[in-house]
Amino acid sequence: MIIVMKPKASVKSVSQVLTKIRELGLKPNLSKGRERTVIGVIGRVNVEPEYFEVLPEVEKVVRILSPFKLASREFKNEDTIIKINGLEIGGTKIALMAGPCAIEGKEQIKEIAWFLKEKGVRILRGGAYKPRTSPYSFQGLKEKGLEYLEEAKRETGLAVVTEVMSSEDVEKVSQVADILQIGARNMQNYSLLQAVGKTDKPVLLKRGLMATIEELLMSAEYILSTGNNRVILCERGIRTFEKYTRNTFDVSAIPLIKKLSHLPVIADPSHGTGIRDLVTPVAKAALVAGADGLIVEVHKDPQSALSDGSQTLDFKMFSKLIEEIRSLCSICGREI
Ligand code: PEP
Ligand code: MN
Repeated sequence: MIIVMKPKASVKSVSQVLTKIRELGLKPNLSKGRERTVIGVIGRVNVEPEYFEVLPEVEKVVRILSPFKLASREFKNEDTIIKINGLEIGGTKIALMAGPCAIEGKEQIKEIAWFLKEKGVRILRGGAYKPRTSPYSFQGLKEKGLEYLEEAKRETGLAVVTEVMSSEDVEKVSQVADILQIGARNMQNYSLLQAVGKTDKPVLLKRGLMATIEELLMSAEYILSTGNNRVILCERGIRTFEKYTRNTFDVSAIPLIKKLSHLPVIADPSHGTGIRDLVTPVAKAALVAGADGLIVEVHKDPQSALSDGSQTLDFKMFSKLIEEIRSLCSICGREI
């Protein structure tokens, strides 16, 4: 059972609820967010929701059968629309996020950012902290990368999404990022999830390399239950026995997640396939399946990219992708 307090509920009202829970021999789990306080009741609850509903400043009490609660459609039936600097993710308009895998230099990120802006993209992606399989591969420009990203953001007016890899960096990355990205490898880094849950930034949570849909939603639950209700889920492919692609993009995950959860879902056809030529067809499939947007890797010269070049589109290919999805969006009842 989940007890949702009214916004700005007083300490007195919250402790009254806690006392009632303890009186029943149950354990409360308090999540105090910026926007609201949510109290989970742990243990076998033998009372009806009304038992708590009558208490002062209780907004609602929900009994939810699925293991994820706040992320579920049972908890919130209408789609969540996340607002970021005047744009919306999860509404009729498709959210386009694009940019290089990694920020490699000031001119590199700025040139790509201006190109994307011209193409109508509103959210620039680019990693300053890169989770690489090999410790000998390029690890990202870190603080310098954030600095360049900030400059590109300031000059172009684009919003930015960038990965945060550890709890210690959350504050620093939040100063630049409009959306904090949790990478696939960190999907189950629970202390990091709670750290981003304490911020007021939307979080793009990528599906883990071997994660089930339920595990993804449980990870979202960590962020939501820490008090941050602006979570965007991302299908980025999972590992299967197939070797011709880097990952197997799970297109069925999109309508399934949208059925189970009210959170927006973004598709990443770049990591989802690992192959440049597959990015546009898979992006289109994802949009037809109901994705609320795309995150795509774009570089001026993918051959020379310091990471993920083989799945990165050049400017010409990206322009073509935009044209192709433009006509598709109208068929799907979406706007670009
Ligand atoms: C990325 O977006 O560049 C990235 C590393 O993605 P993922 O965590 O999905 O592998
Ligand atoms: Mn990448």
